[in-house]
Amino acid sequence: MAGDCIFCKLVSGEIPTAKVYEDDSVLAFQDRNPVAPTHVLVIPKKHIDGLASSSETDRELLGSIQLAIRKIAADAGLADYRVVSNNGRGAGQSVFHLHYHLLSGRRMSWPPG
Ligand code: 5GP
Ligand code: ZN
Repeated sequence: MAGDCIFCKLVSGEIPTAKVYEDDSVLAFQDRNPVAPTHVLVIPKKHIDGLASSSETDRELLGSIQLAIRKIAADAGLADYRVVSNNGRGAGQSVFHLHYHLLSGRRMSWPPG
């Protein structure tokens, strides 16, 4: 739990949220400001500021997140989806607890803005 981190408060239950998925190390919930019909945030329960702050010791955790995303998408019957993790303010990161956006339900353009 990192000080004032909003996502740590969702993990601890201090702020309630409707969970989409949960296991020992990973939590997923709906983004409060969805930008696609499906917009789920998938996060490690452990506080990590962002991908750049992860390390070799997080190898299993990072794998668990990807497998959780795969399961969430499969359970929701999603075939086409995009997974995004913004690292750093310049890339669009606004919450500094590692998270992956799972986006689906509309046509995606490339390159992303
Ligand atoms: P970022 O801009 O860091 O890549 O993504 C942060 C995301 O977290 C945004 O899409 C924003 O809507 C979402 N978000 C921020 N605070 C909360 C919150 O308290 N609850 C939920 N469910 N989503 C949040
Ligand atoms: Zn946190």
